[in-house]
Amino acid sequence: MSRRAAFIYDEALSHHQLRGDHPMRPVRLQYTYELLQSYGAFDQNTSLLVPPRPATAEELGKLHSTDYIAAVRSFSEGAGGYDPGRFNFSAQGDNPMYRGMYDAAALSSGASLLAAEMIASKQVDVAFNISGGLHHASAGHASGFCVFNDPALAIKYLLEQNLRVAYLDIDAHHGDGVQEAFFDDDRVLTISIHESGQYLFPGTGFVPEAGVGRGDGYSVNLPLYPYTDDEIYLAAYYEIVPPLIKAFAPDVVVTQLGIDTYHSDPLTHLQITTRGYVEAVKEISQWGIPWLALGGGGYDLSAVARSWALAYGVMLNVEWPDALPASLAEQIGDGTLRDSVTPSVPDDVRSDARKYAEDSVERIKERVFPTHSL
Ligand SMILES: [Zn+2]
Repeated sequence: MSRRAAFIYDEALSHHQLRGDHPMRPVRLQYTYELLQSYGAFDQNTSLLVPPRPATAEELGKLHSTDYIAAVRSFSEGAGGYDPGRFNFSAQGDNPMYRGMYDAAALSSGASLLAAEMIASKQVDVAFNISGGLHHASAGHASGFCVFNDPALAIKYLLEQNLRVAYLDIDAHHGDGVQEAFFDDDRVLTISIHESGQYLFPGTGFVPEAGVGRGDGYSVNLPLYPYTDDEIYLAAYYEIVPPLIKAFAPDVVVTQLGIDTYHSDPLTHLQITTRGYVEAVKEISQWGIPWLALGGGGYDLSAVARSWALAYGVMLNVEWPDALPASLAEQIGDGTLRDSVTPSVPDDVRSDARKYAEDSVERIKERVFPTHSL
């Protein structure tokens, strides 16, 4: 059965720069789009290329404080009146202020809201906003390169449509901002699989963070050891994710598909290849649940373009050719779409990674599975 898909993109999403030396480079979105375009990904009428719209201040206000929204707008315009430190902005840190910041952040949040609307109204079965997935932003401050939390805003919209939502976050970092937004809510199951907070920003995302009140048992964290590879990753993923999703039976699945888990990503230590990544994405696809897919982290630009092109191929049920177009060699290299080599991890590190993953899995089964009658 052919699936109806939407890819939310416009070049306005990829032209801003946070700072000259900042690892988050929005041009990666353009590379992904150009790679997909070269494969003819938008030539079928079952694959819609849809330009985003900006989120309104009222929409942003469903999660973010009025104060914070006004401060972001003021910094964006280069105006004064707010203390950057109060909102976790600084010139040289993770969250710099730049001209046009409000518009850029409101556009990527609006792209996720538009994608959510297309899913809720059943216009499409799957929608992919590669500019979204900014999972660290908090209600009242920026965090981890994220200004507005588009996954949480999209989930809030879906809840307003009386839909139950499972949120699956496979970014290398813990999806702390999304977890925080729904920590006491049993209408949203959040699952985050990430490099352990013992070793990586933001330092949270441990198994005991399982929710509070009605939300107890609805926040799931699967922390992994640095240098975890495809095999260990996928074994843990299959033990935890499909049973919980099946038991929760959501109306919509929202996924944050960050690819900073990639073995050559400069910010993290996981050792995932395109093979492991695609297998995790194919599993989501097989559930056949209406699917809002978001981007996320990813700081190896070639890996981002190739992995998200592969992910959109999974959404369309299409296998792109392995040869990369010569016209994009400068941007994404002249290798192949899929990785041809497997990173090698020393045996003792691998053994530690396996034990760490198995321990996380066991602890989740004890702490969270009973809530879901598993
Ligand atoms: Zn990340």
